[in-house]
Amino acid sequence: MRIAMIGTGYVGLVSGACFSEFGTEVVCVDRDAGKIDRLRAGEVPIYEPGLDNLIASNVQAGRLSFTTSLSEGVKGADAVFIAVGTPTRRGDGHADLTYVYQAAREISAAAGSGTVIVTKSTVPVGTGRKVGEIAREVAPQKALHVASNPEFLREGSAINDFMRPDRVVIGTDSDHAREVMHALYRPLYLIETPVIFTELETAELTKYAANAFLATKITFINEIADLCESVGANVHDVARGIGLDGRIGRKFLHAGPGYGGSCFPKDTLALVRTAEEAAAPLRIVETVVAVNDARKARMAEKVIAHCGGSLDGRTVAVLGLTFKPNTDDMREAPSLSLVPALQRAGATVRAFDPEGMDEARKSLSDVVYCTNAYEAMEGADALVILTEWNEFRNLDLDRAKQLLRAPVVADLRNIYDPAEMAAAGFHYDSIGRPSSG
Ligand code: NAD
Repeated sequence: MRIAMIGTGYVGLVSGACFSEFGTEVVCVDRDAGKIDRLRAGEVPIYEPGLDNLIASNVQAGRLSFTTSLSEGVKGADAVFIAVGTPTRRGDGHADLTYVYQAAREISAAAGSGTVIVTKSTVPVGTGRKVGEIAREVAPQKALHVASNPEFLREGSAINDFMRPDRVVIGTDSDHAREVMHALYRPLYLIETPVIFTELETAELTKYAANAFLATKITFINEIADLCESVGANVHDVARGIGLDGRIGRKFLHAGPGYGGSCFPKDTLALVRTAEEAAAPLRIVETVVAVNDARKARMAEKVIAHCGGSLDGRTVAVLGLTFKPNTDDMREAPSLSLVPALQRAGATVRAFDPEGMDEARKSLSDVVYCTNAYEAMEGADALVILTEWNEFRNLDLDRAKQLLRAPVVADLRNIYDPAEMAAAGFHYDSIGRPSSG
């Protein structure tokens, strides 16, 4: 089998490398020449654990290559995957499908008859049908097939998620596309991964429904955390107490500063728009979007209140800038609203993130970027833990206390124990837990 992956970002690069690991010949295409140059030189342009080795071994085996030329990449491909970005369209919250349709046009012009065009990007219901129309319009003489194969991988554990997914969802009307997709995912059949074959529309909607449900679960526990703070309950125990119920499940019940990242914010918004247009409004998801936006904006107030009500002329150390650990992705990260809000309140921000600082520099200015967590704490009046990187879970607290001007800690990821922090002499605040433990 031979495939092309159009778009060599977090999804395209991981999917391409993983398919090549399955034994398929893969050409990864991106129009960003800088990205392709770096990949050809053996560099990986994003941070994703394990991806460098996976790419190196498959390049060496001759199964994985990179090009900026789409027509070269799709030559002889059994399937061409579209894995380009679908950001929020300016102004109305819809998914911007410009890149998807442009890729579909280019693929239709360059691909051979019989090729399956597979949308892996997260796209609203109806996009697959439109890709089919584009294919018929651009290349009426070719028999091009269309499938939807939404991706569920998570940044930070993307390789494992792709190689051992909970399920694979494939939407298509075409028997030929079904055969090709079945052959591509054959290694997963061997480990008994459930594969759902369905219609295009259903596959497309499944991805949005999954993300909206997860965003709802996070937002639910965040609101419960606020209630815990008001009534003196502990959200950690509440989450455990409900999560052990198999109908609820333990995952995605960690209270925090509000969800961010490249998917949940844009996908919940796009789903709300789709539902509005279909005259089947999703009130729960609408509320989730509003509650999460307000929460992210409110986190600075929480930090300021914990620091005594004013940050004027103060210095705040922020640990973690990416939207979650084990990625360098800064898209919609809570830091993007928190850091400027702290600065507006008069604070100087000293920050450290293990992998995200190059990206952070592009959107967060006037920050003192430090080389490690302790350097960030030097002379700071307060410490804010914003992303739960492993290396922040076990800080040398004595050293932290010496470096900080005041032992004030706002832990927005609940990675420390309130009682232990109080015993260690910190004025400690977290999310949804009584501060004395
Ligand atoms: P990304 O921005 O990291 O990568 C997209 C890449 O596509 C870029 O490198 C861009 O240069 C390239 N591109 C755009 N148009 C092109 C064209 N016509 N030809 C060649 N290359 C082109 O995006 P991403 O995070 O990988 O997301 C891709 C899609 O997958 C989105 O729809 C996203 O919602 C979805 N998704 C993302 C994740 C995630 O964790 N990032 C998970 C599941 C699904």
